[in-house]
Amino acid sequence: MRSTTRMSTVMLAAGLGLALFAGGAAAETKPAKELFGAAKLPSQSAAAPIGSYAKGCMAGAIALPTDGPTWQAMRLSRNRRWGNPELIALLERFSLDAAALGWGSGILVGDISQPRGGPMLFGHASHQIGLDADVWFTPKPATPLSPQQREDMPFTSMLDKSKFLTVDSRRWTDTHARVVMQAASYPQVERVFVNPAIKKKLCETWRGDRTNLGKVRPIYGHDEHFHIRIGCPAGASNCKPQARVGEGDGCDKSLAWWFTEEPWAKPKKDPNAKPVKPRQVMLSDLPKACAAVLAAPAAAGSEATMAYSEPAAVAAPVQNIEAIIQQAPKPLPELGPTPLPRPFD
Ligand SMILES: [Zn+2]
Repeated sequence: MRSTTRMSTVMLAAGLGLALFAGGAAAETKPAKELFGAAKLPSQSAAAPIGSYAKGCMAGAIALPTDGPTWQAMRLSRNRRWGNPELIALLERFSLDAAALGWGSGILVGDISQPRGGPMLFGHASHQIGLDADVWFTPKPATPLSPQQREDMPFTSMLDKSKFLTVDSRRWTDTHARVVMQAASYPQVERVFVNPAIKKKLCETWRGDRTNLGKVRPIYGHDEHFHIRIGCPAGASNCKPQARVGEGDGCDKSLAWWFTEEPWAKPKKDPNAKPVKPRQVMLSDLPKACAAVLAAPAAAGSEATMAYSEPAAVAAPVQNIEAIIQQAPKPLPELGPTPLPRPFD
């Protein structure tokens, strides 16, 4: 198959010139994250998530406008405010609801996806198909942030870093809890990822309806922002759904596991093992339709206002988050108390 592809690329290139040949060759040698990381505009096509959250791409994305009445997009230079129209609409709706809950004058939105989705040069494992969005745990201030402020503003962690996995009670408020639960309340939202300490805090203090608490999932990081994931939109036949969260509020052994040593233990190294360079994800590892998404003409008149500037590589640890998300809760030995619901102090 591959040789056929190469052959047709060569034949096409012979007819159309060297530029196309260079592009075709690059597609076979460059990791997929470089190809998708270089796309500045979405493809001109109907909106479609293709593949799965951590292995896929996106056709026909639209951008969250950089500024709305109840939101601002952050870190504009990353050019990651592209998503499926259903997610963009949800974020706009959520921003209104958050503001109504007293969350400043709305939300600050972090990364969504690249213009054509796909793997990223740094950061996330998921966010590849336009159905994931990060929202800061800092509300939008009344005075809009300038683009430069949106580059520079530091994240604020909700954790007390002097303790093990503990929410900082000087920062965390009932409004934070309400905003996270609001995000989980929409039927199209399948998961909201937060730090395990935040999930525990919600388990201990949430007095309202707990039906949607099970959608709030503990995961590494996510102490400075929370992460909203919607399900595959209706009719998105190339979108690979993930398993629904189980019944219940998730304040169970699957949460208690995070408070054991296992998730934080350094992987044991075999001193005799040869260092293995991790294999890069190539375009051919993604669903076939992603090659067409990459090659498609850019959407005309789209409102990508920021030129893509390559950010400095950040050595963010990319844990195998998706594997953890998918794993079934394990039976555990008795390892201390499982957090149980209790009223507000
Ligand atoms: Zn995220």
